[in-house]
Amino acid sequence: MQKKVAIIGAGPAGLTAAYLLAKANVTAVVFEKDAQYVGGISRTETYKGFNFDIGGHRFFSKSKEVEDFWTEILGDEMLERPRSSRMYYNKKFFAYPLAAFEALRKLGIIESGLCVLSYLHAKIFPVKNPTNIEDWVSNQFGKRLYRIFFKTYTEKVWGIPCKEISADWAAQRIKGLSLSSAIWNAVFKPRTNNADKNKVIKTLIDSFRYPKRGPGMMWERCVEKSIALGVSVEMNAAVTEIHLINNEWSIKTNTGKTFEGFSHVLSSAPMRELIASTYPKLPEAAFNASQQLNYRDFITVVLICKDEDAFTDNWIYIHEPGVKVGRIQNFKSWSPYMVPDPTMACYGLEYFCFEGDGMWTSKNEDLIELAKKEIEQIGLAKQASIVDGYVVRQPKAYPVYDHSYKQNVELVKQALSNYPGLYLIGRNGMHKYNNQDHSMMTAMLAAKNIIAGNQLYDIWNVNEDAEYHEGGNRGEVITEKIAERLVPERLKN
Ligand SMILES: Cc1cc2nc3c(=O)[nH]c(=O)nc-3n(C[C@H](O)[C@H](O)[C@H](O)COP(=O)(O)OP(=O)(O)OC[C@H]3O[C@@H](n4cnc5c(N)ncnc54)[C@H](O)[C@@H]3O)c2cc1C
Repeated sequence: MQKKVAIIGAGPAGLTAAYLLAKANVTAVVFEKDAQYVGGISRTETYKGFNFDIGGHRFFSKSKEVEDFWTEILGDEMLERPRSSRMYYNKKFFAYPLAAFEALRKLGIIESGLCVLSYLHAKIFPVKNPTNIEDWVSNQFGKRLYRIFFKTYTEKVWGIPCKEISADWAAQRIKGLSLSSAIWNAVFKPRTNNADKNKVIKTLIDSFRYPKRGPGMMWERCVEKSIALGVSVEMNAAVTEIHLINNEWSIKTNTGKTFEGFSHVLSSAPMRELIASTYPKLPEAAFNASQQLNYRDFITVVLICKDEDAFTDNWIYIHEPGVKVGRIQNFKSWSPYMVPDPTMACYGLEYFCFEGDGMWTSKNEDLIELAKKEIEQIGLAKQASIVDGYVVRQPKAYPVYDHSYKQNVELVKQALSNYPGLYLIGRNGMHKYNNQDHSMMTAMLAAKNIIAGNQLYDIWNVNEDAEYHEGGNRGEVITEKIAERLVPERLKN
């Protein structure tokens, strides 16, 4: 059969696959349930000329192939932006990543002393084999610092106690950090001279790349280029069923239309939904496992106000239990092109919730009122200066890493070996806490397998890597090296 690929979802993973397949002359059809936007969680929405992300989206990858992809799509419309972020706790702002001495000074001498004692206690009496976030982070930093700088924000994000969140998440995100290394860096971090500056600025801590008008611009341009290469993109087309009959796939959408004759399906739709739409049904155990996967949902309340230069950070984490907001974005700091009028500012107050809960079902006017009240309480803007507001809801923003997720995903993965040509890709597709680059890498490797007509790479080996977020150099790993790391042992010979 000739290769013909159905791609579910026009997010970073789906569009990366579409573009690369089209470049290799493989026929691809993209199905996107949104009627208007491409880019998925990495889209940019627009309201009265103000552009904003679903959370701020930094473009940074250690993969050269991913960095080159972004450059190929947007060229010099990718800006190099300085990074600045802080944490808010107990009416004070702290640098983020934490600067050890500033943190200890702002916490005060008594609290600092207690933090150091609790750190020493954790080093002498660590929890053996920590399985949850609370124990893992407390082992690393001590219980007191954990309570101040991790517990509140993390529980706001996930909506469950830290004890119920798998240590996998912390191990992926903050591996390699500890209080001792933070203090060591604060004391001994070498000063950079001008010659070193270029090198240093390329690390994620100092800067990142960002499309002129937000991440959506990347994916809108990618769609245009893919269509020019022959890709069909069906918007407003939610895939409701996929059927495997005689080694061929057919796709049904919400419009009632059926599309037939696909050799492969690449799905970036949430795993729980995709498996419920797959026929023949998966064996009962795998099917039930997929239905137990959980997600965390997300609301951004956008506030438009006169720019009073209150802050220039890209974002601020809110570790304060007294307000519901979890993080505040300052979109003009991401790119000046995000606002249509330079005298105005546009802030995004992020609320983490579950689809259907009280926050999710609140009226937009009430959410805007809450956001106005909270931003004034934190001291970043006066309610009187806010002229407009807008609300965006993002279901399934985060795949939840609870204690059973790994086993559930494993059962699904094993069952799918009997569904030739079906690849799960991307973040919710694979139920992995991926950034864009890892989501794209899974798509790149799936596309390579299809183009080669051979299982060259096991895409399940693409994983999060803690150092991605707060260290390392952009594009430092050549693709072949990543790929080599990803070829599972059993396929090497
Ligand atoms: C708050 C927040 C901040 C983030 N910050 C960053 C960052 O700074 N840098 C970074 O690189 N990444 C960041 N990410 C992660 C990034 O958003 C994701 O990694 C990326 O968007 C995942 O791409 P994807 O294509 O796998 O999935 P998605 O972006 O989820 O796209 C999936 C697409 O599939 C569509 N779809 C779903 N079901 C169906 C169906 N049945 N039929 C048809 N279409 C369907 C959806 O509408 C969507 O368009 C952040 C995420 C969040 C939530």
